[in-house]
Amino acid sequence: MNGAPSTTIPLEEQPDSAQAPLVESDSTQTPLFENASKAEISDDVEIAIAQLTVVRDVYDDDVLRELATLLPYDVAKDNHSVVLEKQKDGTFFVGMCFPESFITHRAVARALKVPVASVYPRFLNQTRFFKLLEVAYPQSMAYPETTHRDPSGHSEHQETVNWTKFESDVEAKLSREASEPELEIGTGTGLRSIAEQIVKAAIAKRASDIHVVPQLTSGYIKFRTDGAMYPYCVNIPRSRMENLANAFCDMAGVNGYEVSQRPIGAEININTKTPSGKKERHTLRFQGMPSLHGRVIVIRINTSVFRDFEQIGLEETQGIQIENSLRHRCGCVLVTGPTGSGKSNTLEAMLRALDVMHGGRVNLIQVGNPIEFPNEHREQLTLKTGGDWAETFESTLRMDPDIFSPGEFRKAAEAAVVFTAAAAGHLTLTTVHTNNVAQTFSRLDGLGIDRDKQAALLKLIVSQQLIPLLCLRCKSPDPRRHQIAEHLIEVVFPNRQDLKAAISNVNDLPFFHATGCSYCNNTGVKGRTCIGELLTVTPEISRMLRTGVDGEDIVKHAIKYDGMITLAEAAARKLCRGLISYDSVFDLLISPVTVAPEEQTCAWEAPGESANQPFIDVEPIDEEIIDAEIEYTTEAAAA
Ligand SMILES: [Zn+2]
Repeated sequence: MNGAPSTTIPLEEQPDSAQAPLVESDSTQTPLFENASKAEISDDVEIAIAQLTVVRDVYDDDVLRELATLLPYDVAKDNHSVVLEKQKDGTFFVGMCFPESFITHRAVARALKVPVASVYPRFLNQTRFFKLLEVAYPQSMAYPETTHRDPSGHSEHQETVNWTKFESDVEAKLSREASEPELEIGTGTGLRSIAEQIVKAAIAKRASDIHVVPQLTSGYIKFRTDGAMYPYCVNIPRSRMENLANAFCDMAGVNGYEVSQRPIGAEININTKTPSGKKERHTLRFQGMPSLHGRVIVIRINTSVFRDFEQIGLEETQGIQIENSLRHRCGCVLVTGPTGSGKSNTLEAMLRALDVMHGGRVNLIQVGNPIEFPNEHREQLTLKTGGDWAETFESTLRMDPDIFSPGEFRKAAEAAVVFTAAAAGHLTLTTVHTNNVAQTFSRLDGLGIDRDKQAALLKLIVSQQLIPLLCLRCKSPDPRRHQIAEHLIEVVFPNRQDLKAAISNVNDLPFFHATGCSYCNNTGVKGRTCIGELLTVTPEISRMLRTGVDGEDIVKHAIKYDGMITLAEAAARKLCRGLISYDSVFDLLISPVTVAPEEQTCAWEAPGESANQPFIDVEPIDEEIIDAEIEYTTEAAAA
C-alpha cells in the first residue's frame, strides 16, 4: 500500500539517527512518524490515518507483544493506547485514540516509568486500536470471561469497555486533575480556610454581600459595600470556581452536590476576633443555586452595627418627633421602606429609646427572623422561615407584653394580629414594605385593615431610604451644579423664596459627584445615610383617615400644617450639604409630593457650610480583620 506521507525525507537526511525505529522497517519505506508532531496529527487526521495504514504492514506481532509487557493491559485499555516503538534514547512512540489528552499521556508515561515528554503520541482510530490491542495482549483479549476483572457480568458478546462511562470518567478526571495544581487547598479545614479568607476580606471592606459567579470559561467574586457592587477578584479559572463553590458550601455546612441540583439556603453565625482582641459578631446568610455555568453563591453578611437616630442620618427634628410618638401606651408605630433601607436598625433604635424611657420596667417582646440585634434584657423570639407568623404573633400576645415588636408583617393575617395587639393596649412597633408614607395607607387597606382602625391606632409612620454618601477622597464639583440648583428651586421648592435666594447667591454651589478611587473601591461611595419622612397621626389626620382621604392628600396636609419633611426635602437637604450626589436622589426629586412648607424658613443650614462635615455612617476599613480568627458560634444548619 502506498501510504507514504507527503513529508517524506530521505533516510540519510534524517536529523537524528537515534530516532530510527527500534523495530526495523522495510528500508525502502520512509521511516514512520519521524516528522509527525502531536499538533500535526491532531490538525490533520487524514495524514495520521495514512501513516497508520503503513503501521499495520510493518509491525511485527511479536515485537508488539514484547513492548506490551512494558504497559499493563488495564492501562492500555483504559487509555486506548498501545506501545508501538521504543527508541534507543528511552522514548516511546505510543498509538493513542486520544492523542490530545494530557491525562492519557500522563497515565501511559507513569506506567512506562518515563517523563511525559518521552511519550510521542500517534493517532489510532478505534478499530485499529482494538486490532493492535488484540495482537499485543492476546491472553487478556482472547478470554475476557476468564480475566475476572468484571464480575458484574459482561458476557463474551459484550464489549469490554463501556464507552459512555469511559468518556465521562475522562471528563471527571480531567476537571479534577486540571484543578489540583492550581489551588493549594486540601480537604476539610483547608477548603474552609479559602472561604474564610474571602469572608474576612469582605468584612474588612464592610461588604454586605459576596457574590461568587461562574461563567463560561472563568468566574468572578464581587462584593457589595454601601449598596455598590465592585469586583474583588475576576478571571478566576473555571476549575477554581468549582473549588470555591465547594469551599463556601463546606463553610455553610451544606452539601455542595445538592447545590448543583437545587437552591439551598443556610445561616451561620460567626465571631471575628482580631489580634488586638476586638470581637465582632456576624450572621452569614448563604444562598447557593445552580446556574448555566455552575453554582452561584451569594452570601449576605449581617454585621449588626447599631446606630442611633442621629448616626443613622435622620434630621434632628425627626429624632424628637419619633421619641414623642413612643410615649403612647398603645397604638401602632410603623417603619416602612424598601428592602435594605435600614428599617430594622430604626426599629431597634426605637426599642432602645423605649428601654431608656421606661428604665427597663416594661416587658418588651420582640419576634423576628433573624433577630439582628441580640439583647439579653429582652424576650427575643425567633420565627421559622416559611412558618405561620400570625400564629406565633398571637401566642406571643399571651406572654404579657407591654411593648410588642414583631419584626415585620406581610400578610393580612399578620396585619390583623399587629392591629389587634395595638388595640389591646400594647404599644406595637413593626415594619412593613412600602416606598413612602402616602403608600402606606393603601397598603394597609389592601391587607384588610379598615380606615377606622388605621385612624384609631396609627400613631406614627416613618418611611426611610438609604442613600450612598459621596467618597470624601474623590468627590469633586459636579459640572451640572447650576442645572441642579435650578431643578431644586424651580421644581422641588417653587414656594421657597428663602432657598431660592440662598442658592442663587452662592457662586460655589455645593453639588458634588465622585468618580471613584482606591479608598472607595472605585465606586465613589463611602458609607450611607438615611433620609426619612415622618408622619405623626394628629387628630385632624385621624379624621381624614376615617373619611377615606387619599394618602397623597394626607401627606400634603401634613407638609402644609405640620411641617412634615418629605423624602424629597430630606434628600435635597443632604444634596445641598454636598453629602450625596444628584443622581442618587434624582428619582425622589421628581416625585409628585415635593412641596416644602412655606412656613418653615429656618430648617436649612446655609449651603456650603457643612459640605465637608464628617461622615456619619462610615468607618475606616479595618485591615486588622484580615488577621482575625473566625469562631463559629452556631453550627451551620440548612434553613
Ligand atoms: Zn473615592
